[in-house]
Amino acid sequence: MFDNLSDKLDKALHLLKGHGKITDVNVADTLKEVRRALLDADVNFKIAKDFTTRVKEKAIGENVLTTLQPGQLMVKIVKDELTELMGGDATGINLSGNPTVILMSGLQGSGKTTFSGKLANFLKTKKNKKPLLVACDIYRPAAINQLHVVGGQIGVEVYSEPENKNPVEIAQNAIKHAKANGFNVVIVDTAGRLAVDEEMMNEIANVHKAIEPHETLFVVDAMTGQDAVNTAKAFNDRLNFDGVILTKLDGDTRGGAAISIKSVVNKPIKFIGTGEKMEAIDVFYPNRMADRILG
Ligand code: GDP
Repeated sequence: MFDNLSDKLDKALHLLKGHGKITDVNVADTLKEVRRALLDADVNFKIAKDFTTRVKEKAIGENVLTTLQPGQLMVKIVKDELTELMGGDATGINLSGNPTVILMSGLQGSGKTTFSGKLANFLKTKKNKKPLLVACDIYRPAAINQLHVVGGQIGVEVYSEPENKNPVEIAQNAIKHAKANGFNVVIVDTAGRLAVDEEMMNEIANVHKAIEPHETLFVVDAMTGQDAVNTAKAFNDRLNFDGVILTKLDGDTRGGAAISIKSVVNKPIKFIGTGEKMEAIDVFYPNRMADRILG
């Protein structure tokens, strides 16, 4: 994960360590390399620029040039800023409802259905919850089947109404079913399209309004880089979602989405998907990710 970015940042910061005497020029060169590493990882230009400006201000504020180990202090400053950029502290999900209603949003192929299953499994096995999965994709019968397959794998019931073409009704009926049968979490998987379009947005906005979820999660494929950030913005403008799920971080993603998304939509990344299996889900901890990136 992010090996390339890790290597480049490591090299950039070693510039400082290699010099006997640290000067303004060394620091400036280092920051230039740090910025280049971020841009190469597909971080948006403005975010990368602001990042290095903040690191520079901190380095000046902490008198990096006069400390005993300026290289190490620079690494710490960069790590702290990277943590902050990715969201600061980890944020869990709100499970206060009875049932807690969670609405999944995102484009087709982002990993929504897979993640719905992973989350149900996580809540069942780690949080002792009784989740119900709900298939609200009214366009693709295959999507309903896929959720049933996922539910079967993890032993979680799936609610669907294959004949009903009204996703609002399906979601509302599912919540009634959950209440009547002792489910304490309802995870609603919705239809996605290949690109953002008005009809899809209206549909999910209607479901959102009708069921008033405790958590609205936006699922995005980290491999799509800058597009991930743009899609997040489009969904957030309509849904004002609560958190982001970054999937496919096991692939050779350059990492730009993970680093940029929080500062663009100002919503935390809550979980990451790291594989196709139901167990491939991790709570997202910005500090651990920063540690990992900076080695
Ligand atoms: P949906 O259309 O948004 O519901 O997306 P799916 O859940 O069907 O996922 C699309 C494809 O991505 C499937 O082949 C999944 O197995 C795969 N996938 C989902 N999450 C991950 C992940 O975290 N890592 C990897 N490598 N593949 C994933």
